[in-house]
Amino acid sequence: MISLDTGIENVRPNTKKIWHDCLKLIKKKIPAITFNTWFAPINPIKHENDILLLELPSLLFLEWVTGRYSSVITSSVEEVLGSKTKIEYVTMDEKFQDDLFTSALRTQTEKADAEKKERTLEIELKKENGFKKNEPTVLSNLNPKYTFENFIKGEGNQLARAAAGAISDNPGGTSFNPFFIYGGVGLGKTHLIQAIGNKIKNDDPKKRVIYVSSDRFTVEFVESIQANKANDFSNFYRSMDVLIIDDVQFLTGKEKTQDLFFHIFNALHQSGRQIILSSDKPPKDLKGMDDRLISRFNWGLNADIQPPDLETRIAILTKKSKDYGMDISQDILEFIATNIKSNIRELEGCLIKILADASLTSKEISIELAKKTVREISTSKKVDISIEIITKIVCEHFNVDVNKVREKTRKKEAVEARQVAMYLSKELTNSSLKTIGLHFGGRDHSTVIHSVNTISEMIPNSKLFKEKVDYIKNKIELTCS
Ligand code: ADP
Ligand code: MG
Repeated sequence: MISLDTGIENVRPNTKKIWHDCLKLIKKKIPAITFNTWFAPINPIKHENDILLLELPSLLFLEWVTGRYSSVITSSVEEVLGSKTKIEYVTMDEKFQDDLFTSALRTQTEKADAEKKERTLEIELKKENGFKKNEPTVLSNLNPKYTFENFIKGEGNQLARAAAGAISDNPGGTSFNPFFIYGGVGLGKTHLIQAIGNKIKNDDPKKRVIYVSSDRFTVEFVESIQANKANDFSNFYRSMDVLIIDDVQFLTGKEKTQDLFFHIFNALHQSGRQIILSSDKPPKDLKGMDDRLISRFNWGLNADIQPPDLETRIAILTKKSKDYGMDISQDILEFIATNIKSNIRELEGCLIKILADASLTSKEISIELAKKTVREISTSKKVDISIEIITKIVCEHFNVDVNKVREKTRKKEAVEARQVAMYLSKELTNSSLKTIGLHFGGRDHSTVIHSVNTISEMIPNSKLFKEKVDYIKNKIELTCS
């Protein structure tokens, strides 16, 4: 059983105390088993300017907690801090994504600034982000939970795993440069490429390793142009020993970013630095990607990841259930592994769902529960409905321009259409809050949660509105069937 104090030693005493008080109230409102499952792993990060920032282990976890206990949390925090307080969430997955270039840029370009002030600020920042004081200034942006140790080997990932190991032992020194790994969603690409980074960093903390998603890379590039700092941006990435870019398929069609990436690639490759890339498809299938880049992607090693076979799925479930502290029989694990085949994220999702249901009803984890959950997961999957289609249909109905919904406009019609589109994206697709946010002008998951909640509250209160949403939903489903 996890104690209340888990992991919150580094937080300012008042934040810790505040959260402790909230937990006491929450504990009274929900069953003990639920409390231990969903609340003990939450860490308070800070309380400032009427915002309480909480950290959760993963996005999946976040979606479960906020999906079910949002009102319990809000009411308890209100009792402790008053109704002005806003609650914001961050996940371990994401904490490492934020501001890495911005913070590096600051340390590079503002050296002349009052040094003392800067130093305290940095130490503060690192403390709040949970980084150790002596860590080098480059924040690698790696999530420490992705390691080789907890990556289960199987037939589908054998080559990729072996190459990853070799690269981590000798970055830039093997013929696997670049290392280009591709495969479907949820098969472990991000896990594996981050494991390489973590291992290299672990062996030699001075190595300059950076992990960045291609979306983030693009956003930072655009921001650096706006701030007249495009050179700094480029130099920052050129100074790396190891550059890891996730999901490069999102660079397709983005010519300027590709052009910049091309030059960074050349500079790094020429000086023997390691480049690691992931994609959902092999280089030759990346339509809208510059031919010069595609040919470079083929210089080193291309390795694919295939969906895991049954044994691997069982091994993964066994490991993950242990990690979650679940007591679940081998029969049930085999049942899940036999029925959920496509990807590992879904396997994980199924376990969490079972855990949630069991904890809500305070029941044992039975084969019946597993069956019910597997059935729910399989029928809720509507793979063909995309966020694009949803946005398009919602916009037609609200008579607003699709771009208005994606931009940061606060015009009433645009806001409403955007919230409905986000709500339906959550309901009709398997996309994470983060992905949904990215489709709507790079908004963060708390904005998505807010939108989803707003619409969920409006529906029961207005018959007219409910009819409207149902109508749109119906239309989307018809369009996609
Ligand atoms: P992708 O980037 O290919 O979409 P991820 O790397 O995000 O997939 O993997 C999805 C989830 O499945 C992650 O939580 C990851 O830790 C887990 N996972 C994937 N492959 C493995 C594996 N071989 N062993 C253990 N966990 C895995
Ligand atoms: Mg990924």
